[in-house]
Amino acid sequence: MALRVKALESLLVEKGLVDPAALDAIVDHFEHKVGPRNGAKVVARAWSDPAYRERLREDATAAIAELGFSGAQGEHMVAVENGPGVHNLVVCTLCSCYPWPVLGLPPVWYKSSPYRSRAVIDPRGVLAEFGTELPADTEIRVWDSTAEVRYLVIPERPSGTDELGEAELAALVTRDGMIGTARL
Ligand code: FE
Repeated sequence: MALRVKALESLLVEKGLVDPAALDAIVDHFEHKVGPRNGAKVVARAWSDPAYRERLREDATAAIAELGFSGAQGEHMVAVENGPGVHNLVVCTLCSCYPWPVLGLPPVWYKSSPYRSRAVIDPRGVLAEFGTELPADTEIRVWDSTAEVRYLVIPERPSGTDELGEAELAALVTRDGMIGTARL
């Protein structure tokens, strides 16, 4: 795959259709500027500010854009909140739809056919394989991302974090926590 991509890139550059510097800028953008740290800021704000959390419930796209995160693959966002007895898990059964502005590019396993099929058939089993064992009475809600709607899981705020500020809280939030394959 890497060779094919390289060959394609060489051809496009050779024909003058793309500028290598532009490609580097795009890759750098998604690797370093966009990524799960954006989503972590949204989660930390939701934990810290009840009014923000309410706006996130009502219109996640707008609430996320308040923090400056918007654009391609994040046009229609829905925030799903974990809570006592409820755990949310996000998948794209069809392909790899993922909320780029808040989480960056999806991990390889998210795009794999075993995850895509088994997350809906046996979410509890898939979570266990990620090391996430949920109590038997916890309801698991599985959300199927589409080209129209992308989901962001708002994990439960860890206990003992009452004194932490938003930046410190954001540092506790993981990518997998916002996909729902992990708890914090
Ligand atoms: Fe998809």
